[in-house]
Amino acid sequence: KIILVSICVAFLAAKWTAPTFDADSLRGAKVLVTGASTGIGEQLAYHYARFGAKIVITARREKVLQQVAEKCLSLGAQKAFYIAADMASESDTDRVVDFALEKLGSLDYLVLNHIGSSRFGMWDGDVEHTRWLMKVNFFSYIQMAWKALASLEQSKGSLVVVSSLLGKMSSPFVAPYTSTKSALNGFFGSLRYELAMKKSNVSISVCTLGLIDTDSAMEKVRGVTNVPAYPATDAALNIIITGATRQPELFYPWFTYFIAITKDWFPSLTDYIILNSYDYIP
Ligand code: NDP
Repeated sequence: KIILVSICVAFLAAKWTAPTFDADSLRGAKVLVTGASTGIGEQLAYHYARFGAKIVITARREKVLQQVAEKCLSLGAQKAFYIAADMASESDTDRVVDFALEKLGSLDYLVLNHIGSSRFGMWDGDVEHTRWLMKVNFFSYIQMAWKALASLEQSKGSLVVVSSLLGKMSSPFVAPYTSTKSALNGFFGSLRYELAMKKSNVSISVCTLGLIDTDSAMEKVRGVTNVPAYPATDAALNIIITGATRQPELFYPWFTYFIAITKDWFPSLTDYIILNSYDYIP
């Protein structure tokens, strides 16, 4: 009981002492959002637009990006550019950051959100797919972060990394995906310490999300689990606030924080819950 009360107090204290979000701080902010053609990335773009930011969005599908950029302008974005790119390609990742710097002049926020498509199912030994997914979900993130760092340093900017509860704990059917998210958490956790040691101006926010109701996520889990899904638009707003207030971490929805710590403190309970959360017939 004492442990649980202490955790709750620590969680609430962190919430209460978090800096207040100033929406005006995003007016004119220069933002690059990846994976913005659909899902959470699209919602991120619309929120930034409503706050009056200048944005560059990227993903692979140019036509869809064009429509999202047009909607961003109609919602209030001061500027909205798009660039089609494949994050599996090293030259494309560099090209996107160069494009954003050229169009916006500098960057205040780099929001890394994209993911490659990965099957929801038992690990079938496909190492090549995992290698490719690491390129898209991990290596492109660290390459873009490095390329944007000098500009973020000058603008006292923020690096926002969209991760997952599956970067904090394992679960069946997602071995390649969970590997990429664990890698992100490890890498950016380490980089955050190094930037602090260098007295850098750049903040890093790692966002731990639970199940969110995007089409791609719902398609995968339908009929397999009844874990509740949370709205993408609300997840996106929380990600933006976390970056703007320079918080090191976001847990959305809030209970993902408790799930993440429960797995270390009560591993048998976690195993029981996970194994009973899926309908699987061998
Ligand atoms: P979606 O699948 O809806 O969107 C993925 C985005 O990435 C799309 O814009 C897609 O556009 C783009 N993309 C896919 N492949 C590539 C590629 N090779 N190169 C460049 N862009 C690519 O994802 P979600 O919105 O559901 O997830 C967004 C983030 O939130 C991810 O980091 C995910 O891990 C995290 N998250 C999501 C959860 C959920 O339940 N939805 C739960 C926990 C975390 P295009 O096809 O045009 O390239």
